[in-house]
Amino acid sequence: VFSRSRSEHFFKRGRRVFPTGITRVTVDHEPSPLYIARGDGAYLIDVDGNRLLDLNNNFTTLIHGHGFLPVADAVADLLHRGTCFSNPTEHEITLAELLIERIPAVEHIRFVNSGTEAVMFAIKAARAFTCRPGVARIEGAYHGAYDWAETGQAVSPAIWNDAQRSPAVPAYRGMPPAVGEEVTVIRFNDVEDLERRIASAAPSLACILIDPMPSRAGLIAPEPIFLAAVGAIARQHGILVVADEVLNLRQSYRGASARYGLQPDLIAAGKIIGGGFPIGAIGGRKEVMRVFASDSGTPPLPQGGTFSANPVSMVAGRVAMEAMTEAAFASLESLGDSIRAGLRREIARRGAAFSVTGAASLFRIHPKRKEPTDFREAYLEPAEAELMARLSRHFLQCGILLPNGAAACLSTAMTSADGDAVVSAFADFLSALDANPTE
Ligand code: PMP
Repeated sequence: VFSRSRSEHFFKRGRRVFPTGITRVTVDHEPSPLYIARGDGAYLIDVDGNRLLDLNNNFTTLIHGHGFLPVADAVADLLHRGTCFSNPTEHEITLAELLIERIPAVEHIRFVNSGTEAVMFAIKAARAFTCRPGVARIEGAYHGAYDWAETGQAVSPAIWNDAQRSPAVPAYRGMPPAVGEEVTVIRFNDVEDLERRIASAAPSLACILIDPMPSRAGLIAPEPIFLAAVGAIARQHGILVVADEVLNLRQSYRGASARYGLQPDLIAAGKIIGGGFPIGAIGGRKEVMRVFASDSGTPPLPQGGTFSANPVSMVAGRVAMEAMTEAAFASLESLGDSIRAGLRREIARRGAAFSVTGAASLFRIHPKRKEPTDFREAYLEPAEAELMARLSRHFLQCGILLPNGAAACLSTAMTSADGDAVVSAFADFLSALDANPTE
């Protein structure tokens, strides 16, 4: 059985210093968080000595898993020579060159420290370019903690069934009501909803913010016709398309927009491009990126940041990304294909009421017989949410950390045996569920 006595001990200490004992709302703490002692490639070892296959990889950040040697060596080398300067370094240019060479929509780029900041500056850049304040965003998608990107994430049936209430619901108590007035929430994969809502808000919209496969909203594949409509209606009204690829850049060598045929004006990136260190980036068309330019005085959009483009994140990111060759992306994707196929095979064999979404190195299991095609179809009722928590508990017993409510992701440290372990843990779960539907 799974022991967590030392983790419980740490949790007691944590509770004395942090609200609820944790420092991120996303930490699973039922009955206590698992405190990690160290990472080892595809695995985590917690303070009780449990060894777990890590399908979280710090929320999809660690594309090479833990302790990837080329990054560790490059960073160790740097640590002795200074970790941050007020002056620029060659390291930032090298990472920028790599990203610009790979990502078609990126001609110029700026670095920041998190995905939240990247999305925030992309929205501000769209505003500065268009001289309009408004943001249109996809219902249920997560884009970090900037107010205008957060609003409209926590939509629930009580809200979407109530014609009087705007889906641009405040993300936190006390959020200025004016934020909601500048946010238009559109349904994913619904061209009619998109066209209707954009048409009415168009004169005040700076951008349509879209993650091509929003993870929190179900990790659902975009309909090509929907992405085409996003591009067309944006162009028609002079609205910019901002692709949030903070998570989904890991979908291909050229990123997610290129993979799905979206042509954004700006891209927000983060996670994998920092090689395990804090990072964010805003990239896009030169003409738009000029809002950051200060050649003739104060830029339309001043952007700084004490740790922006710090050499540690730049070097770690470059080394991690260089190791992600086209062949590395292809083999990660084929592991993902085989896991998704295996999970679907187990579902079909038993006629179980589950489905699987995702692509490349990402997957998500839904307690839904019909594969969801938008956030509302993926929405979990309380009994379904409990079933997913039971699934994660079962995976832990099998030595696998399966994120609950977020995308599961693979790393290059994983082998096909790890993939088989995932499928067989799921098969065991379905058998246990048949034998005992309520646990
Ligand atoms: N956008 C997306 C799509 C994300 O998945 C995340 C992080 N999960 C963010 C933005 C925010 O990134 P960060 O946590 O680095 O601020």
